[in-house]
Amino acid sequence: MRGGVAPDHPKIKKVADVYDRTARKPYFRFIGNVDIGEDIAISDLQQAYHAVIFAYGASESRRLGIPGDDLAGSYTATDFVGWYNGHPDFTDLDFDLSQEAAAVIGQGNVAADLARILLTPVEHLERTDIADHALEALRDSAVRHVDVIGRRGPAQAKFTPKELDELGRIEGCQACVDPMELELNPESWEELEDPRNRNAAKNMELFRAFARNDQWDAERTCRFRFFESPVEILGEGRVQGLALRRNRLEGEPFRQRAVGTDETGRIDCGLVFASIGYRGTPIAGLPFDPDANVLPNEKGRVLKNGKPMRGLYAAGWIKRGATGLIGNNRACSTETVQCVLEDAANLKSAGRGGGDDILRMLQKRDIQAVSYAEWDLIDAAEREAGAAHGRERRKFVHVADMLELAFRNGQRGRS
Ligand code: NAP
Repeated sequence: MRGGVAPDHPKIKKVADVYDRTARKPYFRFIGNVDIGEDIAISDLQQAYHAVIFAYGASESRRLGIPGDDLAGSYTATDFVGWYNGHPDFTDLDFDLSQEAAAVIGQGNVAADLARILLTPVEHLERTDIADHALEALRDSAVRHVDVIGRRGPAQAKFTPKELDELGRIEGCQACVDPMELELNPESWEELEDPRNRNAAKNMELFRAFARNDQWDAERTCRFRFFESPVEILGEGRVQGLALRRNRLEGEPFRQRAVGTDETGRIDCGLVFASIGYRGTPIAGLPFDPDANVLPNEKGRVLKNGKPMRGLYAAGWIKRGATGLIGNNRACSTETVQCVLEDAANLKSAGRGGGDDILRMLQKRDIQAVSYAEWDLIDAAEREAGAAHGRERRKFVHVADMLELAFRNGQRGRS
């Protein structure tokens, strides 16, 4: 929530209140600032707990893997999102926003967030919890035109209509589409007519409305392009353009794939952001499916060589891949917890020390664990710092500063 949800979506962040209520229950213990696989091994967890649920998400970006991908000005959405949200792992990245035109590859909600943050007049972000360094960089940003590029067509764009609609409502910015690109093949019409595909039908209406805009020369534009795949990021020393290949769709409705044609094109742009999905990463000691980038599992039971590993479970993006809204995780985790309950009788055999064991191990290894009471101190300090500027919070963006604050009261010395 903190590192992924866009700063101008405070309502979505309200979900934290639900987690907060759970965290304050007497049977819940939060142990923060611990890196599983480094500070604590999987075998340590197995020794301490009867059941362990891994819900560590998907934190890495998928790269385009095309020539020019490594040029200055070519970025991934993951890095940019982590940076503007003040995630400590991304805080020290540098984004050069001195260019007028940017291309975003991918048409999911992350691409929508990214395009919106780039195009929103900075005064609308000043009251949000966006990281201070991002606010300052966006204040000086020269970015005025963003092309959001899909390899398939408008009927296959993955935005949710609310997020797409927002892109049409940015102050001083015109959302536009070339009407020719909204022509659909019969398979896509069939997809749109399916009642389970209401989001796509609503998106299509929005695209049609954007296509009626003839203000391509607006000061800021968000242009949607379809049926194009990037083949090379062009430039000498830094990004200067993007070479694209035209695609056509092939396959049954809902299984249509983008297939390259001989037709090519190029656009001029100084920035490229790949927003083609997130990738889960392995943890030493756990099996990993390198194709799906998830923990191999059945309904949440982690599998090794096709067999469930006793007491190990997965939920969320690391269970099913990096798709789905926060709400989708509810059903996903219910399914996992159901498995834990079904297995419970067989898991209870030996007594385990639980969190006390883990805390003892951490202390021995000189790792400073953060309790929920200490997180409360960090949270309160951020809110206080924000209130002085009429903002929800001002985030700490370095772990060392958070720890300094959390342990300042001297209950626990720094090691
Ligand atoms: P996504 O929804 O899966 O979108 C990924 C996009 O990248 C798709 O348009 C996909 O096209 C395209 N793509 C993938 N590989 C490509 C390639 N090699 N070349 C060109 N295009 C490629 O993923 P996401 O945007 O990262 O979002 C992840 C999940 O988080 C989604 O479920 C999203 O809804 C959710 N989320 C929600 C919010 C919100 O509610 N505000 C905000 C952020 C994220 P194809 O369709 O052709 O594969």
